[in-house]
Amino acid sequence: MSGRIPLPRPTALSRPYWEGARNGELRFQRCRDCGEAVFIPQPVCPACFSDALAWETSRGRGTVYSFSVVHRPPSPGFATPYIVVIAELDEGWHMLSNLVGCEPGNVAIGMPIEVTFEAKSDEITLPCFRPAAG
Ligand SMILES: [Zn+2]
Repeated sequence: MSGRIPLPRPTALSRPYWEGARNGELRFQRCRDCGEAVFIPQPVCPACFSDALAWETSRGRGTVYSFSVVHRPPSPGFATPYIVVIAELDEGWHMLSNLVGCEPGNVAIGMPIEVTFEAKSDEITLPCFRPAAG
């Protein structure tokens, strides 16, 4: 069964991320003092505690760092099975997301993936990943 799924609610901190996603950009923060790539959105750098964080746009390419195939959803509305991944982005950061366009039996750690975007409402577009083309 599938239907409405619970959607994220942007905060002052995460709003630039969601605005980027709505425009087809995968954004993350980078520390201007130590160069650390930061995700999820933070008020200060987790590596050096600087507040000089600036938003950058990712190339949206990386690999599957880890994954899980979900058969029993956390709430009604999710179509199962689906694949949850930790994506390792080429810029050196990780994010929890979904892998789409891939059969659960075909996902593998280290597999090349690229971002794709699924509009869920006027406000929320979810960045997901799919197997990289070529
Ligand atoms: Zn830093």
